[in-house]
Amino acid sequence: MPEARFRERTDAAFYAPRMERIDSSVMDGVLSAEAAFDPDSYSACDVREAISKERLEPYDFGALLSPAAEGLTEEIAQRARAITRDHFGNAVCMFTPLYASNFCESRCRYCGFNRDNDIVRARLTPEEVDVEMESIAGSGLTEILLLTGESDRHSDLEYIGMLVDKAAEHFASIGLEVYPMNSDDYRMMHERGADYVTIFQETYDPVTYGRVHLGGRKRVFSYRFNAQERALMGGMRGVGFGALLGIREDWRKDAFSCGMHGYLLQRRYPWAEISYSLPRLRPCNGHGEDDTAVTERDLLQVATAYRLFMPFAGETVSTRELPRFRDGIVNICATKVSAGSSVRIGGHSDVEDQGDGQFELSDTRGVEEVRSALEAMGLQPVFNDYVRSDR
Ligand code: SF4
Repeated sequence: MPEARFRERTDAAFYAPRMERIDSSVMDGVLSAEAAFDPDSYSACDVREAISKERLEPYDFGALLSPAAEGLTEEIAQRARAITRDHFGNAVCMFTPLYASNFCESRCRYCGFNRDNDIVRARLTPEEVDVEMESIAGSGLTEILLLTGESDRHSDLEYIGMLVDKAAEHFASIGLEVYPMNSDDYRMMHERGADYVTIFQETYDPVTYGRVHLGGRKRVFSYRFNAQERALMGGMRGVGFGALLGIREDWRKDAFSCGMHGYLLQRRYPWAEISYSLPRLRPCNGHGEDDTAVTERDLLQVATAYRLFMPFAGETVSTRELPRFRDGIVNICATKVSAGSSVRIGGHSDVEDQGDGQFELSDTRGVEEVRSALEAMGLQPVFNDYVRSDR
């Protein structure tokens, strides 16, 4: 598609004037860095040099993501583990996601909530939210991640604000993984109790992005890209990043850009807590085959590269992964795991008329099982590592 046509269809200025535009160079910085990243240009020497450094530059990060690093997996994993223990000790935070609504007006090809999919749709009522949150709080968890589909009609700001208000009654730490907002909306959510905003860019290639995001507000690449920065402008404590590996043929480039996104934002907002998630494409309603070319080994390479490049950043492994693999990553570099997860609407309690889930879970362990697994590895499960002074 010609550049002008692409911008017309995906740029915020043309697509949705109500979307806030901010003065930021981060997106251009990431896209330029990726344009210069050639995974095949690195040698084993480049990788060894990256492993030996105390502080890595983007070039070193690229080396760790390159094919040349595949023969040095053990050395990189050992270094990643040492860095993780230096910065985080044995602590691993536990949380759970609460999917409140699966109504969505976007059409993302890889997602079960895609508005074209014929699934059972549901949205929790305020009373059902209470039941769900009481059930989660009863497990001992004090951190929650609130999720909805992207729908102005079914999960508008008022509805999400209601979720945050109720979460603030039960939980010490509240994350949002909903649609991107303007900075003043983030400020309002923060004042009501939300701390943390996670947005997956999914892919950092604008052409692939346009190909898999067929409709809805999510089509606007630039507005989504700048969401973390608007969240920090709105006062959030931290922001999370993720590339859905497997969407794009060259997953190394998406992993590189995702790492650079957090890196450049950290330089602009040194106080911000940065974290990376490690999702890869999995089967869902409307997208049946597990057609990802990204293996567990590839995912390990990405996880360890993030750790060496951004030593202080959090890392979360998705429940899309098997328990064995999640435990392995936690033992090396992940700092946060979900437990007792459900991707269904109303799946934490006995809410009637539950809505279908977003994808298939591979790790269905409850809170106690995950806690025991962590302790068996000599790790320390942490239910809360943050206390807000204004609540
Ligand atoms: S990925 Fe998000 S925006 Fe896209 S269809 Fe799924 S819930 Fe909707």
